[in-house]
Amino acid sequence: MVKSALVMFWARLGSLHGLESVAGAPFWKRWLGQPLSSADTVARVYTLLEVDTLRVGLHHLYTRLKRNKALAGLGGLGVAVIDGHESHASYRRHCSGCLERTIHTEQGDQIQYYHRQVVLMLVSGARADGSALRLLLDLEPQGRGEDEVTAALRLLERVLALYPRAFDVVLADGLYAQAPFFNFLLGQGKHALVVLKDPRRDLYRDAFGLFQLAPPQSGQYRSRHCQWQDVEDLRSWPQVQVPLRVVRSQECYTQGCQLTHQRLTVATEWVWVTTLAAIQAPTARVVQLGHQRWDIENYGFNEMVTGWNCDHVYRHQAQAIVAFLLTAFLAYNLFHAFRLLNLKPQRRHGKPEIFWARLIAAELYTAAGFSASDSSP
Ligand SMILES: [Zn+2]
Repeated sequence: MVKSALVMFWARLGSLHGLESVAGAPFWKRWLGQPLSSADTVARVYTLLEVDTLRVGLHHLYTRLKRNKALAGLGGLGVAVIDGHESHASYRRHCSGCLERTIHTEQGDQIQYYHRQVVLMLVSGARADGSALRLLLDLEPQGRGEDEVTAALRLLERVLALYPRAFDVVLADGLYAQAPFFNFLLGQGKHALVVLKDPRRDLYRDAFGLFQLAPPQSGQYRSRHCQWQDVEDLRSWPQVQVPLRVVRSQECYTQGCQLTHQRLTVATEWVWVTTLAAIQAPTARVVQLGHQRWDIENYGFNEMVTGWNCDHVYRHQAQAIVAFLLTAFLAYNLFHAFRLLNLKPQRRHGKPEIFWARLIAAELYTAAGFSASDSSP
């Protein structure tokens, strides 16, 4: 069943019915050693699947890639990104794992049901051709009445037991600027690097007070001209077990305006709080890591939703939702590892990712649509 679902994701078939529609392809005999099961059977098995066996599969792939030196760190640091993602929402259908919220509409209040997961992505350094391998390691569903960080700590606890040396620092958005998150990572010998965005916080105010005293240093992030400020040893967040470091980056870049075709100058500002010392990560590295947090949005969630149809509800049942997502992670990791490491750069060149998915789908559709019995008059 898992092998069938992997092909469903690789060929981007979109649904279990899409999978069933290519059941006539001779490929299944070779791949499964038996005919493809019906959509209903796959869905039913997925409600009963032990999801931890999928996690073992994900770990196995990680170990192989690590051993083959395919997962270089960034400047000597292993880096992971954590973030929450809402996989779907519905007013009608719900299950025992659904979260609920009240939506105020013109027709009155309505209860909306949804699922949310916290996901951990491992980010590796760029390879010689500029490409980088990213692995979706694991996910944890957010339970009723708990916040995202609570689910994230559960996820990190499980991941760190299985992957104790996979990463040194965890990147996260402003929601994770919470003492339990920092203290948990410190307790595991890991670092946190998180967006700091609340100007009312003592730490923020103290850092900005110190920024006034020293001129910023000029720097460069990609094509952006930056002004950086960096202060260490801040003790104005006593709930966190160690003094903290705050880095601010004011960035300027030009962008083309679609309407007027003119170049516009855009200015942005980022502030991060981290447990990393300057000796472990100089200012430029902190700025790079701070921006790297977006990898989970740009290469993780966006691609999984638009490219892999991951927000589709393959079977609306709490365990099946986790099992299909973990299978999608396995498919994503294998697909990218294969594309980047097994295909020669000259074969990859000029072909978008979707080319390979369509190539896989083409084999299924061609053979399924034109079997010998169909072509006879
Ligand atoms: Zn549900």
